[in-house]
Amino acid sequence: MSTEKLGTRVSADDAEAQRRGLMLVLSSPSGAGKSTIARLLLEQEDNLELSISVTTRPRRTSEIDGVHYHFIDKKRFEQMRDHDELLESAEVHGNYYATPRGPVEDAIENGRDILFDIDIQGTFQLYEKMREDVVSIFILPPSIAEMKSRLNRRAEDTEDVILKRLETAVGEMRHWSEYDYVVVNDDLDRAFQSVKAILRAERHKQFRSPAIGPLIDGMVLDLEDALKA
Ligand code: 5GP
Repeated sequence: MSTEKLGTRVSADDAEAQRRGLMLVLSSPSGAGKSTIARLLLEQEDNLELSISVTTRPRRTSEIDGVHYHFIDKKRFEQMRDHDELLESAEVHGNYYATPRGPVEDAIENGRDILFDIDIQGTFQLYEKMREDVVSIFILPPSIAEMKSRLNRRAEDTEDVILKRLETAVGEMRHWSEYDYVVVNDDLDRAFQSVKAILRAERHKQFRSPAIGPLIDGMVLDLEDALKA
């Protein structure tokens, strides 16, 4: 058998280049450590960018417009919604939050993965529209006591707001089984490694790479030719 003829019609690089990006949704009750995990992922993972939501909520002192959110007023939100510029939207604690459509479509069509920090209402809307593209992870705090103390330590919200967030958490946790994965954040590094492993594995799902079929078919043909020779 000659191995000289071995050579593929579609290269592995082509297959990777044609991969469709995925939508990684991290959801958790406030205080479960989701933001830290999201930040670490964005720092350490290539080819992953954050979907920057619009919100009508007032900016917290630690937040930067255009980085953490695009802070907009209700009129602008309604304009975007009426022009079909939003992929999903939700009202959370009396404020509107939504995902602008354009950057997400551009990312996944060009093989870039995109990370979402959105609530359960938004996650379900994404399921309805693009279930195959979504990989959803629910991050749980180790206990309600720990979650409450994390929220208190953050000290950016009033007692009232913290209470509302805990009430929302109870409602959201009832839906844990509708997420693809559940990660308990009892140890930050371990939880982070688990989320990273999920992302890495999901990137290899064969249906995200339309060129994988032709790549393998080409390899099989080359191998058959080589065996005949
Ligand atoms: P926060 O006010 O603490 O930044 O966010 C409150 C909640 O709104 C969090 O659960 C967060 O995940 C969610 N959220 C942030 N952006 C979006 C969005 O674009 N869509 C939806 N559905 N929820 C969002």
